[in-house]
Amino acid sequence: MEARANNDRHRQRQQKLKEQVDTRVAAATEKKGILIVFTGNGKGKSTAAFGTATRAVGHGKTVGIAQFIKGQWDNGEYNTLQPLGVEFHIMGTGFTWETQNRQADIEAATVVWQESKRMLADAHYDLVVLDELTYMLAYHYLDTQEVINAIENRPAGQSVIVTGRGCHTLLLELADTVSEIRPVKHAFDRGIQAQIGIDW
Ligand code: ATP
Ligand code: MG
Repeated sequence: MEARANNDRHRQRQQKLKEQVDTRVAAATEKKGILIVFTGNGKGKSTAAFGTATRAVGHGKTVGIAQFIKGQWDNGEYNTLQPLGVEFHIMGTGFTWETQNRQADIEAATVVWQESKRMLADAHYDLVVLDELTYMLAYHYLDTQEVINAIENRPAGQSVIVTGRGCHTLLLELADTVSEIRPVKHAFDRGIQAQIGIDW
């Protein structure tokens, strides 16, 4: 008797939950590209972006990627996605975190930004990933308003993913989906080296 009553209660709860989910699914009728931000200090922002890019490519979508960080040419995502026709623009050469050459950094960032702007204006791209873009705004290497305008005025069906710590408030406000990744632990803090296939 007890077990059956529990079962009934469980079924009723599940039924209620299903009705709530169905109502919300039915209410989500709008179809358009979205802006996703992966931010926070934990590990997983770029991998989430590249995971989504892989998902999109798996459905035959056109994806363009800009990486606003010193080029690690042998990165696994490049090795996988570039041969599948994904376009990459990596700041790479000329970028100088080490030498503090601000002017050279701005120039390198601007080159990648010009390519990003072109992709953000072209409906041919279903998804544009702007990996580590947040730092370019934080250091004032790129003009925040220009970046916001380009993202805001992109083709209606195009989605954009921005990654990086400390995302600018204006970008957070513009975003449709924001996930903040919180570091609970990181292997590096225990003295474990970054490793190929896991960290790049
Ligand atoms: P990933 O590329 O692994 O998804 P991420 O994009 O979230 O990481 P970034 O800040 O871009 O994080 O970090 C780039 C590199 O620093 C990666 O190799 C990553 O493993 C490492 N890293 C990320 N978070 C931390 C952390 N909290 N402490 C130490 N190293 C980190
Ligand atoms: Mg990253």
